[in-house]
Order: sequence, then structure tokens, then C-alpha cells
Amino acid sequence: MSNDWLTGPILEQLNSGVLVVDEDFQLVYLNSFLQRHSSVQLTEVKGKSLFQVFADVPEAWLRRKFASVLELQSPSFSSWEQRQYVIKLPHLRPVTSSSQYMAQNCTMLPLHDPTGRRYVCMLIEDATDAFVYQQHLQTTLQKLEQSNRVDGLTQVLNRRYWEEQLKLEVQRAQRYRQPLSLLLFDLDKFKQLNDQYGHLGGDSVLIELTARVRALLRDTDWFGRYGGEEFGIVLTNTALAGAVEVAERICLAVSSKAVTFHEHSIQSSISVGVAQLDTTGDRAHEVLIGQADMALYNAKKEGRNRVISYSAGETAFMVKTV
Ligand code: GH3
Ligand code: MG
Ligand code: MG
Repeated sequence: MSNDWLTGPILEQLNSGVLVVDEDFQLVYLNSFLQRHSSVQLTEVKGKSLFQVFADVPEAWLRRKFASVLELQSPSFSSWEQRQYVIKLPHLRPVTSSSQYMAQNCTMLPLHDPTGRRYVCMLIEDATDAFVYQQHLQTTLQKLEQSNRVDGLTQVLNRRYWEEQLKLEVQRAQRYRQPLSLLLFDLDKFKQLNDQYGHLGGDSVLIELTARVRALLRDTDWFGRYGGEEFGIVLTNTALAGAVEVAERICLAVSSKAVTFHEHSIQSSISVGVAQLDTTGDRAHEVLIGQADMALYNAKKEGRNRVISYSAGETAFMVKTV
């Protein structure tokens, strides 16, 4: 008994694509879903080559897939994660996705008619929802990762991530025997500045100054917020003399121009400690921080608004007032 009365209406109502080709890849059947989305009419394309009607299909890949389905007489599957789509069709969603095309899960089945002629049926399931969902998830994860690395106020790296990078750069510098320097700087008399202009005034000084400093750095430097108003900069491939030059430039960029906050013109300065990596071992990055911190302490002690470098167990005054 023929089951056409049953399969016919179901195939036509199905919210998935159904396509059947014979062994020569000639189209035998397309259901309404596919005809609607591809603007191709079965009556016009029946008997034509699949590759002629759908010129964008990955021909070599599809030939291999169909050949194995026929040879093994077992189904084969292709998910949108492996190949976003097999037949290029516009998707049905409003503009929510970066892709204009329907993401597809495809199942390829071996068929044969009562006379024994062999066919391949491809079921095409619209997986655009999953595709869009995954894209949103990826974007959200990227944003989360970014916010995990960055300090909310100044947009420089947060301490945890910055220290991780320092550790990695120290290991790299040790392995490749390249110079590496560290700057630690702290805003001078910042408590006083906060008292005078309020916490928001202090915040806007932090925002403006970090932006100014960032503009002076290379892409390969790592700039992070070490504490409240204390910052660290890892200068890769830079020896002490070069690092002191950078530090001087930064010091001058801060003190030479006031920050405007409402009607106020806020003058500020920083003290900078500089150290070059010269130790080995697992804790070398901690030693380096300790040395830069010692130099910073001396810069404060010597009157602030200056750069002091640490060298070979003693602090040397490389630069006096800037
Ligand atoms: P010194 O020159 O010795 O560094 O003096 P100082 O006043 O800057 O030093 P101290 O470390 O005593 O004060 C730091 C101040 O920075 C205290 C703290 O309230 C302020 N501070 C820390 N983080 C922030 C912040 O995110 N925003 C603002 N506005 N102030 C902050
Ligand atoms: Mg301070
Ligand atoms: Mg401080």
C-alpha cells in the first residue's frame, strides 16, 4: 500500500528541508521548505544536477559524503559547528546574527526505490538559533574575560592580570636573555588632592593621567594598576637606561599639564621607581617589584616628582627633579 497520503502532507509541512538526489546527483525531490527558502521550484529543477541548481554547495565534500553514504548504506551527519551550512539559504531570524545564512545540521540517508535504484536524501535542519546563541555566548565570554583583566576606573590592567604578565615576561626575558625593566609609580600627595577636590576629582585625575601615560607606551609594554594610586609598567626588551628615559617622559607628561575637573585646574605629579631584572629563579619577579618599590620609596623620600632607579643593591639618583 502506498503511503503517499501520509508522507506527502508531512513532507510539505515540515519545518526542515528535504532534498533527494539520485546516484548522478540529479535532483529528484525538494520539499516546500527548501523551495520556499531557495526560491527554486521543483518543477523547474527536477532532473538537473544539484551542483548546477545550487552552485554554492561544496561539491567535492558533498560528493565524498554521498559516495560514502551509498557505499556503506549508512547515514552521515554534518553539524553547523563543522560546516555552517551546506546549502546557502537566507535565515529567517530578524537581523540578530552576523551571518546572513541559515546555519544547518544535515543528515544524509541512503534510500532505494522498489526497483532497487539508489538515492541519497538530505535532511536540512535550521540550526540558526543555536548558532546565534553560541555567538552571543562567545561575545559575552570575551567581554567577561576583558573585564576580568582590566581595572574598571582607569582601563589599565588590574593587578592580578598585570602580575601574571610580569611573571611571564620575566620568564621570557630569562630564557632569551633579553633585558626587562619595571617602573612603579605613585601619585604624589594624592590624599591631599582627594581632600581638596573630592574623591571624584581624584578619580578624574587617575583616569586622565593613566590615559596620558598609556599614550607614551609601546604595544608590548604592560601597564597595570598595582594599588589605589600606584601603577606598574613592564617594559619588555628594555634595559635600565632606556627605562629611565621612559620614566622621565612619563613624569614630565604628568607634571607639565594640569587636569581639568569642572572649573578646577588640578596640578599633580608622580614619583617613579625603576629597576632592571638581574636575578634568576622562580621568584625573580617579586625581587624586581621589591627593587622598583625601594627606588620608588627613595623617590618619595628625596622630595617626590622624580625618577629614581635601583641598581646593584643600592639606589642611584639617575634623575633629580624633573
Ligand atoms: P605620597 O606622596 O606619599 O604618595 O602621598 P599620598 O597622599 O599619595 O599617599 P597615600 O598612600 O597615603 O594616599 C593615597 C590615597 O589615594 C589614599 C586613597 O584614598 C587614595 N586613593 C586610592 N585609590 C583611589 C581611587 O580609586 N580614587 C581616588 N579618588 N582616590 C584613591
Ligand atoms: Mg601617593
Ligand atoms: Mg600610594
